[in-house]
Amino acid sequence: MDHYPDAVLFDRDGTLISDVPYNGDPGEVRLMPGAREVVRLLRAHGVRTGVVTNQSGIGRGLLTRAQVDAVNARVEVLLGRFGTWQVCPHHPDDGCPCRKPSPTMVLNACEELNARPERTYFIGDIEADVKAALAAGVTPILVPTPVTLPDEVDRAPHTAPDLRAAVAMVL
Ligand SMILES: [Mg+2]
Ligand SMILES: [Zn+2]
Repeated sequence: MDHYPDAVLFDRDGTLISDVPYNGDPGEVRLMPGAREVVRLLRAHGVRTGVVTNQSGIGRGLLTRAQVDAVNARVEVLLGRFGTWQVCPHHPDDGCPCRKPSPTMVLNACEELNARPERTYFIGDIEADVKAALAAGVTPILVPTPVTLPDEVDRAPHTAPDLRAAVAMVL
């Protein structure tokens, strides 16, 4: 089974679930098309899964960590358990080491999943996801949404029209 990746990491907002800015309500969680199918397919192939997400709403004082945890718990009710959750709670101006496009959370996710970065993919919807992956030695796949900037799509080394197509590229 060595041709399968060790792990596939996902951005949360705009990738696994619809991007509701600074959402603290689990009742507002809506899956993106194909999300349930692709995480099930990956796990069926023994591929580890994780989530890497910036949640600056906490640092901005718009959300509590408990609210973010409640939303993440709802995601796991809908999609099953992920092997790691990496959450940056900081404000963009904090200069923290974790916020994407820093590779820190991607590297931490690989370590927690015991995954080799060169055998890991990161699927996200904006360039910060792509940059974080590249800086970590992980292969990025950009799945644009209508709000993804066209320049970011042009610069991405790999793109896919949706989650199903992205996961078909790695299995
Ligand atoms: Mg996103
Ligand atoms: Zn941070």
